[in-house]
Order: sequence, then structure tokens, then C-alpha cells
Amino acid sequence: MARLEQSEIELMADTIPILHATLDNGRSDRWKVWCKHCEVFHFHGAGDGHRAAHCSSHSSPYKDTGYDIVGPFLEVKNHDD
Ligand SMILES: [Zn+2]
Repeated sequence: MARLEQSEIELMADTIPILHATLDNGRSDRWKVWCKHCEVFHFHGAGDGHRAAHCSSHSSPYKDTGYDIVGPFLEVKNHDD
């Protein structure tokens, strides 16, 4: 079961574009990504992971796949101890 989930994640990583987010005006709860297809910023709640595209451009490939966003900093959850 875990193996199947892992392969699904790897498959998605191959096809889902990854966009790098920056903070929206210093707010830590909102991230923005530059969309080269719409030529505007799209805004999302903070957090790494997959997002549905907010694209207004009908030619944007993101509309089909969405994209993964990666934030300007990572909150590393350390459960080692
Ligand atoms: Zn867009």
C-alpha cells in the first residue's frame, strides 16, 4: 500500500509543475506565485503542496494539472526526539 502511494507521488512529481512562492507583502499566511502564462501573481494559502490553478489564461497548462507550490521557507517538522 505504501509502495503504491509512493509511486503515485513520483508520477505526479514528473508531470506537475513546481512554482516557487514568495510571501504576499510579508504576510506569512498567504503566498503568491508568478504565473508566466497569465503574467500575474496567483495567491494561495501558505503551505507547500499541490494547488488548483487560478489561471485566467485559457492557454495555461496549469489549468489541467494545477501545480505544486514551494514556499520561501520550510517549516521542518522534526519528530525524531
Ligand atoms: Zn495562471
